[in-house]
Amino acid sequence: MKMEHDLHMTKGEEETSYFKNSRLQEKALVETKPVLQKIVMEMCVDLLHPTMTIVDLGCSSSDNTLFFVSNVFKAVSYHLEKFSGHPTELQFFLNDLPGNDFNRVFQSLQRFRNSIDMDHKGEPIPAFYIAGLPSSYYTRLLPRRSVHLFHSSYCLHWRSRLPDGLEGKKRPYPNEGNIGIGATTPPCVVKMYKEQFQKDMLLFLQLRHEELVANGQMVLTFLGRKHDDVYSASLNRLYGLLSQSVQSLVEEGLVEKEKLESFNLPVYGPSMDEVKAVVDQSQQFELTNIKLFETNWDPYDDSEGNDVHDSVQSGINVANCLRAVMEPLFTSHFGESVLDELFKKFAYNVALHLVKEKTKYSAITLSLKRR
Ligand code: SAH
Repeated sequence: MKMEHDLHMTKGEEETSYFKNSRLQEKALVETKPVLQKIVMEMCVDLLHPTMTIVDLGCSSSDNTLFFVSNVFKAVSYHLEKFSGHPTELQFFLNDLPGNDFNRVFQSLQRFRNSIDMDHKGEPIPAFYIAGLPSSYYTRLLPRRSVHLFHSSYCLHWRSRLPDGLEGKKRPYPNEGNIGIGATTPPCVVKMYKEQFQKDMLLFLQLRHEELVANGQMVLTFLGRKHDDVYSASLNRLYGLLSQSVQSLVEEGLVEKEKLESFNLPVYGPSMDEVKAVVDQSQQFELTNIKLFETNWDPYDDSEGNDVHDSVQSGINVANCLRAVMEPLFTSHFGESVLDELFKKFAYNVALHLVKEKTKYSAITLSLKRR
């Protein structure tokens, strides 16, 4: 699997696109908006430069990235209005892997600018500029000391690559019947995933440290886990249901067994302690805030209680959400012809699971200040 080539969310604006199926990720942006806006306002006070440079890492192709832009924009406008500070200009870079559907985002920019103008009729608003930045954030993206704020939402659980020995024809580390960390994954494989997370995160912190100005900040949100036990993590239970769905296709002869055995997802959801340990180890950032929040698996279920009202519909919603994220990866490995059947089975498995137990994703959000 070549991440730079194979990983992107489903393009365009069709029913199965990421654009139409990114409510789960939007809910995370709503959750983290207060922290983000507080940090942006703090930065306005300290800003020594006439331009504030802000980067959304892993922006994808839905309007979520523009929601982020508008949240920053509103915080800066509020500061400008309240303190009539010097007229800051905003430079946004939207980053993702080269296969991302940047065109969809760029094509919606005029509409976005019109909505900003409508919202702020007659008020002084900061000028803003938006550019694309197609590259992996596990590489250097921008000049040294040029960025004020990095933001990333729902991305950093993706590893830069699969741990060695988990793909290809000769795989010294078997992970039979699983497409990620599942109930029968050997502890040595879990350890390799964890080490890959630590390596990736240390590299990420080092690169961003080089690019940030003194006192520059980051707001990062990604999938993690609530408890130490990796096997009980809700993310891994969800992937367990997906593995089970691929397994059914193997039993029906629609997918070769070898195809299942040679596929593993480059995803690892860390615990808060694991995140804190990496930040400590890097010594390059002060951790100013960290918290864990939970969201129902079904992105359209906003209820608080433990009941699932319509498990069949919830199963379909969860499957649509995951399909918009996974479809390109699954197509390149298993072929397009099995996708409808695979996600139908997955929706059914999720529905059965939700009848027994309403399950939630755990996400970790943290703010870091450059030392
Ligand atoms: N932030 C968006 C998108 C989340 S989907 C939102 O809130 O809706 C996760 C995105 O991370 C995908 O678009 C994926 O391509 C991107 N991504 C994963 N690994 C990446 C990497 N190494 N560099 C840049 N983008 C990456």
